[in-house]
Amino acid sequence: MKGMEEMEHRISRGFTERPASGGRILYWMQASVRVRDNLALALALDEARERRLPLDVLFCLDARYPEANERSFAFLLDGLADASRGLEALGLSLTVALSAADRAVAAAGERAAAVFFDEGYLPFARSQRADIAARLPCPVITVADNVSMPPSLVSAKEEWSAATLRAKLMRLVSLEGSLPQSRPLEPPLRGAPRPGESIAESLFAAGIRVLERRPGRDTLESLGVDSSVAATGEIGGEAAAWDRWEEFRDERLASYDSARNDPNIAGCSGLSPALHFGHISPLSIVRDLKARGLWRAPASFRAAGADPASKFLDELLVRRELSINFVLHNRRIDSWDCLPPWARATLERHRADGRSASYSLEEFESAATHERAWNAAQRELMATGRMHGHMRMYWGKKILEWSADPGEAYRIALLLNNKYALDGRDPNSYAGVAWCFGKHDRPWGERAVYGTVRSMVESGLRRKFDLDAYVRRWGA
Ligand SMILES: Cc1cc2nc3c(=O)[nH]c(=O)nc-3n(C[C@H](O)[C@H](O)[C@H](O)COP(=O)(O)OP(=O)(O)OC[C@H]3O[C@@H](n4cnc5c(N)ncnc54)[C@H](O)[C@@H]3O)c2cc1C
Repeated sequence: MKGMEEMEHRISRGFTERPASGGRILYWMQASVRVRDNLALALALDEARERRLPLDVLFCLDARYPEANERSFAFLLDGLADASRGLEALGLSLTVALSAADRAVAAAGERAAAVFFDEGYLPFARSQRADIAARLPCPVITVADNVSMPPSLVSAKEEWSAATLRAKLMRLVSLEGSLPQSRPLEPPLRGAPRPGESIAESLFAAGIRVLERRPGRDTLESLGVDSSVAATGEIGGEAAAWDRWEEFRDERLASYDSARNDPNIAGCSGLSPALHFGHISPLSIVRDLKARGLWRAPASFRAAGADPASKFLDELLVRRELSINFVLHNRRIDSWDCLPPWARATLERHRADGRSASYSLEEFESAATHERAWNAAQRELMATGRMHGHMRMYWGKKILEWSADPGEAYRIALLLNNKYALDGRDPNSYAGVAWCFGKHDRPWGERAVYGTVRSMVESGLRRKFDLDAYVRRWGA
């Protein structure tokens, strides 16, 4: 699928009737901090070349962004450093405004002929984009990126489970050529703007500071971000994301299905932070696998053995895009009100059940429960910004089991996940926590506290892997 067809396919809000007379094309980079397979950038470049206008790329670094802290900012800044280098190679530059996006994009877009956004899926990101778009005097194009298919094409409603979304997504991905091709990026034809028309001048006139040097971790100090959660040593950015992907593809993809549930071995890709910050596109991964013959057709994403990549792609596309579907269509993702009626009702019925233990947020946060395995998982999260996916399910289930109230448990799980996880504040964060409380699942046998929500027990972990080795590793 190419050209206009592809644009129509992926643009969620098209050109408006507003006049297009400004002197630049603006791409507001926010969700896709990369150059390779960045569809919004590619379309903005096409537009700039066609109209012979300069292209400006703007990122808004807002120290007060909801739930962001030193850990997430450090990873983000690594990505901005790479993006800045990648844009320079194309003859472009990245302007980093030290401001909330609503002020900076409005100021930079004032003189634009068109502004391109990359889509954000969480409620805050969507309402921020809608508010900014409404204030801009020019056409605004929002590109549904970081997904295999635009969510609005896949489903217009909240899906019940992975099975229902999988069927719809498979139909689309199976269509010959429906995954857009990677496109070469050509620099715009016109270079420098006329004096008085540069983006820096527009921002300056609005009283907005811009970063004077290439973004990087050394920018952290001057930003004044919340330093309660320290940065980890893990490097972010497009180059590190591709290194991680290629290493996983070549060394571990073939054994993913059998190794992915053991936290003692690196059986998973570890790509979730890179995907969260948009340092790599899921489409890049799909194309790379197709090009190498490692994935032929989505006859079944799930069928392990059909292709080495089937199970992995089921997680990367179906599970991940199910989370996006959830946050797009469910208006209550911040609380257990988001749960399906059966889960909410059964948890209500068991609300007053006696608990084997009951902990406060502070006790959970400081890994002070009676159980060494749970404490180990919490310590892994705090120290590294990561928790293995299998432990993450157990971790969330136990917060439900050991909290005085399910609503409070939901709040604690979400808060700790989003505070410490490098991949936190993502659609997957909300869907992952909600899954522990019954979302996207079915009723199981009835038990205390859980009701018919699926429970997990420590002996189940022991059956799957060497739990003591995991506990020793995280010093509990
Ligand atoms: C309580 C809880 C909280 C979670 N919070 C987050 C979060 O904040 N951010 C986050 O990205 N994921 C979250 N998940 C989902 C999942 O645990 C992680 O995506 C996965 O462990 C990331 O590791 P990986 O990149 O090595 O995954 P891999 O196994 O290598 O999978 C590749 C990619 O597929 C996607 N994926 C894998 N498993 C899931 C899943 N169950 N649901 C949705 N997408 C999936 C991710 O994008 C992942 O990077 C959470 C799950 C639970 C139970």
